[in-house]
Amino acid sequence: MTKKIFRAILLAAVSVLLASLVIILGCLYDYYRAVQEKQLQDELRLASYGVEAGGSGYLERLASPHPFQAIADYRLTWIADDGTVLFDTHVPVEELENHGDRAEVREALSNGESGGVRYSATLTQRTLYFARRLADGTVLRISISQLTVFALAMGMLQPILLTAVLAAVLSALLAHRMAKSIVAPLNRLDLDKPLENDAYEELSPLLGRIHQQHRQIEAQLRELRRKTEEFEQITENLSEGLVLLDKKSRVLSINPAARRLFHTGSACIGKEFLMVDRGHEINLAIQTALEGGYSEIRAVRDDREYQIHVSQITAEGAAAGTVLLAFDVTEQAAAERSRREFTANVSHELKTPLQSILGSAELLENGLVKQEDIPRFVGVIRTEAARLVALVEDIIHLSQLDEGVALPKEQVELLELADSAASALRERAEERRVSIAVTGQAPPVYGVRSFLYELLYNLIDNGIKYNVDGGTVEAMLSAADGGGACVRVRDTGIGIPPEYHSRVFERFFRVDKSRSKASGGTGLGLSIVKHIAQYHHAELTLHSTPGEGTEISVVFPAPETSGL
Ligand code: ADP
Repeated sequence: MTKKIFRAILLAAVSVLLASLVIILGCLYDYYRAVQEKQLQDELRLASYGVEAGGSGYLERLASPHPFQAIADYRLTWIADDGTVLFDTHVPVEELENHGDRAEVREALSNGESGGVRYSATLTQRTLYFARRLADGTVLRISISQLTVFALAMGMLQPILLTAVLAAVLSALLAHRMAKSIVAPLNRLDLDKPLENDAYEELSPLLGRIHQQHRQIEAQLRELRRKTEEFEQITENLSEGLVLLDKKSRVLSINPAARRLFHTGSACIGKEFLMVDRGHEINLAIQTALEGGYSEIRAVRDDREYQIHVSQITAEGAAAGTVLLAFDVTEQAAAERSRREFTANVSHELKTPLQSILGSAELLENGLVKQEDIPRFVGVIRTEAARLVALVEDIIHLSQLDEGVALPKEQVELLELADSAASALRERAEERRVSIAVTGQAPPVYGVRSFLYELLYNLIDNGIKYNVDGGTVEAMLSAADGGGACVRVRDTGIGIPPEYHSRVFERFFRVDKSRSKASGGTGLGLSIVKHIAQYHHAELTLHSTPGEGTEISVVFPAPETSGL
């Protein structure tokens, strides 16, 4: 800015200087010409008297070197009335042609006097002349070469240049000082407090505008900060991972859940997402969303499965970036998988008894069964049908538990339920020569009676089914440490190998399939037990040693902590 002001002042000063020079030269020239004309006319008058009195002798004396150089500059020409040149102070008369046709001569002859200006071909010189008719009818002409303005200027070039250089240097110095003094108050302006400045009055509107804009910017910043805090508060507490990316896939914002998911910190802000997660699929999904608007993928990180949605963010119709949302779907995915497996297993489990029933029925229908074998075939149909009923019942129970149906809850005495389950199974136990006993006492459990009955029934039933001849099953009730109820069902049966301890609670898992089927098992009993325990927030534990027996214990929480 200082430079600009300096240049402007200097330019103005130099322009003024040049204009002044031109005007002064013009004025000087006019003045000089007027003085010269006057002098010339006086000289002509004097010379006229001289010639009239002394003839050419006077002129010859004039032509000889003169003490005053100024007179030597004049050219005097004496012309006869027929135009013949009688005398010339500068050129020998023989060399001069007849001047009778010269305008000034003709005019002087007719009017007595004439005068004018004649330019040379180059226009750098002009000739000023006056002519006068003398008493004898001859004409005396005086002329002088006069320089034009340009020639005059050229003649004065040296002093002009000197003056110009001096003026330019002075102007430069002044311009420099002025520029600095103009700019100094501007440099001192405190734009943080625009209204407190009093540099130039002309700046007041500008400073007022700056002050207004400051206030607007501050208000906008406050609003922006508020929105950012609001956004951060929302995203901080989000359990889903949220990442905002710009159109070059650089991280703009990443919430704590996403930081945990991608094992990164806030240092990743501003970096490319590729630096946060190198996964090809996820980076491809971001690119696809950026170009196409939306994409989603499933990705596994740290043994957990995530559903990742990437959506394009647009601003003024163009893609401005993407937002990435990651949902933890591990449980959901596992549930989907087990549902698929369950469906496949159910179909298989239902098909087997149905095929058996169908086969036996067809044989019977076509009369292909001997009379004495009919009861056996009918028995098969009955057993398989019973298995189907048991299977369907178990599936219904499981689906009820899966859906978490809200059944009426009440105070349930486990002893009463254990007794009635034992009674219902006593006949079957006797068939297998297994004895059942229910011992101890337990505090009441607040729960669903039918579910709790089924839990005890299944555990005692398994104790019988997987027992040995002369074995025992004991349902032992007691108070748990926390004040809840505890039930342990212990048998002296075949036991479960350690590698299957966790698997026996899976749906349709059986250690020995043929034994399970032979004893009417569906493979769902322990799975139902596990769900019922979960439904009542009870803890389920299995202890088993092959060849020695099995003990499964269920510990119910005290009623006030059970949450039921
Ligand atoms: P199932 O209808 O076949 O009995 P369960 O879900 O009740 O199905 O049990 C799963 C498997 O666990 C059984 O097939 C059996 O192999 C094993 N099992 C369950 N309870 C016992 C037990 N008390 N003693 C030995 N094995 C058992």
